[in-house]
Amino acid sequence: MGTKQQIAIGIALQTHVLKTCPLHNQLYCDDEECSDSENMARAFAVAVELVRHEPYAEEFHHDAHELTDILSYTIGATPTCCPECMQARYPANGTASAESYASV
Ligand SMILES: [Zn+2]
Repeated sequence: MGTKQQIAIGIALQTHVLKTCPLHNQLYCDDEECSDSENMARAFAVAVELVRHEPYAEEFHHDAHELTDILSYTIGATPTCCPECMQARYPANGTASAESYASV
């Protein structure tokens, strides 16, 4: 996982768009929160603000679009619930979500 993606995940966690499973420490995107455009808007606002300041300004070459792109990609690629919780609940078909998590 790259530094830029870690920054994006940090923003998503801070704005509650993404959550961490308390049992497995795995990232997931709560269905309700994901469709909550207010949280998403806040995440993008934080990203735009962050890129105005060092060291992020240099990292993203003063271009907030790069960070907002990574942010929306990261949120889109995160499963809607913890893959390990899913597997515990549905042991036979947990592979699809495990695969989508691996691409993050
Ligand atoms: Zn879990």
